[in-house]
Amino acid sequence: MREIVVHDWQARAGIDVAALAAFLGRALGVEASPVSGGAGMRPDGAGGALGACRVADVKRPFWRQRGEAPRDGGVALYDGHELLRLALAVAGPGASPRGALHVMVTDLLVGTYDDADARYHARPVVASNPSLLSTASAVWGPARSRRYYGEAMAARASGGDGAAVEAAHAAEHLVEGDARMAAAIRGYAMQAAMYALTGEAFCDDASCCLHDAHWQSGVLSAVASGQLCAAHGAAIGGLT
Ligand SMILES: [Zn+2]
Repeated sequence: MREIVVHDWQARAGIDVAALAAFLGRALGVEASPVSGGAGMRPDGAGGALGACRVADVKRPFWRQRGEAPRDGGVALYDGHELLRLALAVAGPGASPRGALHVMVTDLLVGTYDDADARYHARPVVASNPSLLSTASAVWGPARSRRYYGEAMAARASGGDGAAVEAAHAAEHLVEGDARMAAAIRGYAMQAAMYALTGEAFCDDASCCLHDAHWQSGVLSAVASGQLCAAHGAAIGGLT
């Protein structure tokens, strides 16, 4: 991989793609450049194709629900692999494993279906080429603390003050518009880059920014740290 291209793709969540590209260029020692597109560069500008990527039922794989209309009122979740096909049209035919890595930053909620538990899960990173990075999925994918869920459920059951619970726990997890989001997206971008370089995005070391954090505490302590573990730190220079 000689180059990374970072696309602002429906990224109204305030991620500075120029700063992200500069970070990746420094961290990986490769050429990195940003692309901020107009309407044509956005998935909702692709002739209505975005709507066709929406998930109607989180408990069925996409091929079994293609073309079905999502129920009204639900949060719009998009199938990551379907979005990648739109992203490929934006990134162009040069998006191949041996060419530049294209990274698309979006605020769409992105999920993939997991056969293991037969349902969709929100994914902050869908590593491929192009790769997707989703700010909404960084908020809603990794789980919040058990204490938060317990208190939020108790507040709902008793008609109590849900806003107070949110405020009390806000520092523990990413929220929409979070000032820590840029740091988290840097870590997820490193995972996408590591996948492009080695075929493996994740690291078992719970302090490494490549850690596959299933909890928000891990997103904030590891992914958003931007720090590689000793093994990955030593390896990275030889990979690019
Ligand atoms: Zn590591």
